Amino acid sequence: MNLVQTKPTKKGKLYCSIFGHNFQVSKQITYHVNEYQCSHCKKEMTTDSTGQLTAMTPKYKEINSVLERIHQNKLVRYAKQQNTKVLKMTS
Ligand SMILES: [Zn+2]
Repeated sequence: MNLVQTKPTKKGKLYCSIFGHNFQVSKQITYHVNEYQCSHCKKEMTTDSTGQLTAMTPKYKEINSVLERIHQNKLVRYAKQQNTKVLKMTS
């Protein structure tokens, strides 16, 4: 097990302190909530309930995983409803 590899590199941190972070969407949770990760130092951010970017914490990770599950369930239910409507219309 190599713990050094999982830590942000010094080079990345230095780069970010000079040029700023380069956040990219790492995961879409819902239409309005995304998780972001800096491509240089791997710092994580997320969208909070007010739509502002905020630092990722274990609490937000938990909230996002719940949101993601609810969102996925909604998508599945919506898709099923659409299928039912189509079936009814054609029968
Ligand atoms: Zn960074």
